[in-house]
Amino acid sequence: MRSDSTPALDNPISSGLAILRADGSSRLVAQRAFRAGDVILELDGVQVTEPSRHSIQIGIGLHLEKPAYVEGVAEMDRYLWRFLEHSCAPCAAFRGSELVALRTIEPLEPVTFDYLTQEYDMASPFSCACGSPDCVGDVRGFRHLSPAGRERLRPRLAPHVLELARRDGLC
Ligand SMILES: [Zn+2]
Repeated sequence: MRSDSTPALDNPISSGLAILRADGSSRLVAQRAFRAGDVILELDGVQVTEPSRHSIQIGIGLHLEKPAYVEGVAEMDRYLWRFLEHSCAPCAAFRGSELVALRTIEPLEPVTFDYLTQEYDMASPFSCACGSPDCVGDVRGFRHLSPAGRERLRPRLAPHVLELARRDGLC
């Protein structure tokens, strides 16, 4: 649903995205079509050492959060990555700080990535119901995956997840 009260985005990379609210949840959706390889958004925020429910892991012992004072429209305007949903068969993936489309994403399609490619040990595990044949079920962090699950994600892992897995003898 389009809101005419939404202020203009000052980050041009964020244009083409919208937050859809339904059933008490908010999800990030494409507002226009993205092609494979398109940069959808770029991570931006403050670095913290402890994960939270909405943080994203960006390094070893390093997580990204929005600044505590940012709420409401400002949060939706700039920290859109917080509204990305998980999928075990995602349409996008992070390359460094950039979220890149893995395939064509149609308007109003949820923009998703696989949390387990970024998160080694999650603060707020949940059950996934993405419906993909590869669905892992419980999403708790990469370190909790089965050997087969770890092997499947290996090509798309963020460098810090790969390094942590190596340290633990999991990769
Ligand atoms: Zn799933």
